[in-house]
Amino acid sequence: MSDTTNDKVREECGIFGVFGHPEASTITYLGLYAQQHRGQESAGIFVIDDQGKGREHKDMGIVADVFTEKQLAYLTGSRAIGHVRYSTTGSSVVENAQPISVKYVKGELSVAHNGNLVNADEIKNELEERGSIFESTVDSEVLVHLIAVNNKMDFVDSVRESLKRLKGAFSFVILNKDYMIAARDPNGFRPLEIGRIDGGAYVVASETCAFDLINAEHTGTVEPGEMVVFSKGPDGLPKMETIQFAERGRSAMCVFEFIYFARPDSTIFNRSVNDIRRALGHQLGTESPADADVVIPVPDSGVTAAIGYAQATGIRYDMGLIRNHYVGRTFIEPSQNIRDFGVRIKLNAVREIVKDRRVVVVDDSIVRGTTSRKIIKMIRNAGAKEIHYRISSPPIYNPCFYGMDFPTKTELIANSHTMEEIRKYLRVDSFAYLSLDGLVKAVGGRKDKYCMACFDGDYPLDFRDGQNKHIFEDKC
Ligand code: SF4
Repeated sequence: MSDTTNDKVREECGIFGVFGHPEASTITYLGLYAQQHRGQESAGIFVIDDQGKGREHKDMGIVADVFTEKQLAYLTGSRAIGHVRYSTTGSSVVENAQPISVKYVKGELSVAHNGNLVNADEIKNELEERGSIFESTVDSEVLVHLIAVNNKMDFVDSVRESLKRLKGAFSFVILNKDYMIAARDPNGFRPLEIGRIDGGAYVVASETCAFDLINAEHTGTVEPGEMVVFSKGPDGLPKMETIQFAERGRSAMCVFEFIYFARPDSTIFNRSVNDIRRALGHQLGTESPADADVVIPVPDSGVTAAIGYAQATGIRYDMGLIRNHYVGRTFIEPSQNIRDFGVRIKLNAVREIVKDRRVVVVDDSIVRGTTSRKIIKMIRNAGAKEIHYRISSPPIYNPCFYGMDFPTKTELIANSHTMEEIRKYLRVDSFAYLSLDGLVKAVGGRKDKYCMACFDGDYPLDFRDGQNKHIFEDKC
């Protein structure tokens, strides 16, 4: 994990599914490729043909490395689901890669999950007492077992009954030989979008940027508490049916998707990520302008907010930091310890832009602050006269129990330092976060629609006292 990403809150997963396409595995590969930013530690595809024969390939690594043309050619069938994920420390093993697929009395079944189930341990204990044997340490596996246990029911009913048992954040795609089911938890924490290719095959994805790559039309959203069932109609063409499996809960769309995780070219939760991210920067510029010559983003995630900041303040925007996108998982490190090598391998300052200038640096969030400090030093060494650091989100005080990987509470810099102490630690001339009110304003003034618990501690859904978010060791 590079220095520039290990100091970020990390997304856990991205999911994709396609129903009714002759090249289902290649479409899924592309859908995952476009969502690579949602998880870079493992990738997997499960595909099933009309005879109910399932095939799967998953491994550690990024999508382009995990799949070869030969493997995609082996994954034959017209329905497929796929998954990209991060894992938490200690559980970066292929057994925990998704989709999770099993053979049971009703045939083959596969599940891909984005989110975190807060009652997974409870259900797991109950299932183990009844004889279920778990193969991974991923909370998502409980859904597979619940469906298998409910095997006396029709498949769609068994999924509906199983989903009703789950609490937490979940967007699922579930596949067997007859159905692909896309489901979203009653609070709607994680996004899940629906699309169509040429009026034929249906696709679902965490983000719509996946649809653009495969030329699919974005046609709708899986709403909170809903399961969307894709199957073959009497005319042999794919059809779609919507079932409300649970009443909608308090709306709790993850606001961090807009701040950092989702790609700006995506539409999620019926909103353009670009528009909201730009509004965050604009609001930040209105609240905390600086007397400066140039606004530069910490790329890539700070780019859109920095443009908004520049628009609000009238200060010139420029690319004062350049990111190297071509850093593979392995690179040859110098034998001599080059200071801050981890940051340098990803980012470099453009001297001509920052030298002798008063620079505003815009970043999307600050977690531990360790990477920010190195980036600031890099800009200072490139000759910046003043540095004004601006964050397009409020201070992060609390961990996430709904599918994001945060460091511990004590590691979050906002919990251990005052604003002035952070400014001194970063060695900047001025420092400001976006206010909580400003965040609410930028997302349209509807705090009641969003989860903002990592900022304000108002958790929309109870989790048991003392629950360790890694109780299953891992989640997705
Ligand atoms: S706690 Fe933060 S990261 Fe987690 S779901 Fe809520 S807003 Fe998103």
